[in-house]
Amino acid sequence: MRYIDEFRDGALARRLAATIAAEVDPSRDYRLMEFCGGHTHAIFRYGVQDLMPPNLRFAHGPGCPVCVLPMARIDQAIAMAEQHGVTLCTYGDLMRVPASGRRTLLKAKADGADIRMIYSTQDALAIARTEAGRQVVLFAIGFETTTPPTAVALKQARAEGLRNFSVFCNHVLTPPALETILAASGNDGGDGDIGTVALDGILGPSHVSTIIGSRPYEFVPARFGTPVVIAGFEPLDVMQSALMLVRQINAGVARVENQYTRAVTRDGNARAQALMAETFGPRDRFEWRGLGHLPHSALRVADAYAEFDAEQRFPVATGNGREIRGCECPSVLRGLLEPTDCKLFGSVCTPENPMGACMVSSEGACAAYWSYGRLR
Ligand code: SF4
Repeated sequence: MRYIDEFRDGALARRLAATIAAEVDPSRDYRLMEFCGGHTHAIFRYGVQDLMPPNLRFAHGPGCPVCVLPMARIDQAIAMAEQHGVTLCTYGDLMRVPASGRRTLLKAKADGADIRMIYSTQDALAIARTEAGRQVVLFAIGFETTTPPTAVALKQARAEGLRNFSVFCNHVLTPPALETILAASGNDGGDGDIGTVALDGILGPSHVSTIIGSRPYEFVPARFGTPVVIAGFEPLDVMQSALMLVRQINAGVARVENQYTRAVTRDGNARAQALMAETFGPRDRFEWRGLGHLPHSALRVADAYAEFDAEQRFPVATGNGREIRGCECPSVLRGLLEPTDCKLFGSVCTPENPMGACMVSSEGACAAYWSYGRLR
C-alpha cells in the first residue's frame, strides 16, 4: 500500500538499525521519550526497541488522551448523566476506564444512565437533531488533534440553533505537558516536584503537530537544551527520528527537527488553529493523570459559546477520584516505570479487566505491552 509499505520496509529497517548502532557512543546511554501513545504502539508492534542498541532506550510519555484524563472528570461525566438526566455521548475507549468506586461509564449505562458510544462529533450532533426532547452532551477529550472537530460541532450547533447540544470539554494541550515532564526530569537543572527520568531527546507528536506545527516546541531546546524530532507513526519514521536525535546528541546540539515533513510544517494548520481560537479559551489549571494540576494546559468552551458549555449548564459536585490501589498509571505516564513494573500487570489487570486507563486505551502503554508481548 502506497505511503504505508515503504515506511515498514524490513531491509531498510535493518540498514537504519545498523547505522544507529554504528553511530551511538558506547560510553553513554540515550534515553528518548516518545510523547505519543501512537509511537509507543509502533515501537512495540514492530519490535523497534529490539532493533536498537542496548544503550538506547525509549521512555513512554503521556500522549494518550484517554490515559491522562483524571478519574474526577469521568466521575463528573457520570454525574451529569445521572443527576441531570442528559444523554452523554462518548468514544468507545472511555467507556471502560475505571472511575471512582470502580464504576465506569459502561456500568453507569447498565445502571440506567443514557450513555451512548459515538464515533465522531457528528454522531452527537445527529442525536441532538433527531431527539429534540433530550439534552445531548458531547464528552470531548483529546489533544490538539481532536479539538478542531469539536470546534466544528460547536459552530454547527450555534448555526443551527441547537438548544439541546453542549460540550463537556476536556481537550488538553501538548506543550505544557512536555514542559512539566522536562522540568520534573531535571532537564533544566532544577528538581521537579514529580518524579520522572532524565531525558536526552524527545520524539515529538505527529498528529498533534499537523495542527500546531513544529514551532510550539522551540522552547524545549531553548530552555532545556533537549533536542526534539517530530516523528511520524510508522516504524521507519520512528527509527529515522531516533537516528536524528542520536546525531544531535552526539554533536552536542539541540534544536527542533521535523522528520514527518510529509504532514507537518513549522506553522501547522492555520484554519484549524483559527477555529480552535474562536470556540475555546485556556483554562487556568487542569488536572492530568500522573502529572497533577498544570497551568494553562487545557481548553474550556469560549465565553462566546457559553450556552454550549455543559459544565455551566449541568454543574455537578464530585470528589477528587483516587486511582485503584496498586495501579501505576501515573508513573507509567511520566516514563518513570514500565508497565511490567506494575504488580497488577497481566495478573489482576488485563484488557478484559482493566484497572487503569493505560490498559484500556488503544494508545495506552500497558495495552501496547500486553498486545505485543513485552512480558518479562
Ligand atoms: Fe494501571 Fe494496569 Fe497499567 Fe498497572 S498494568 S499501571 S494497573 S493500567
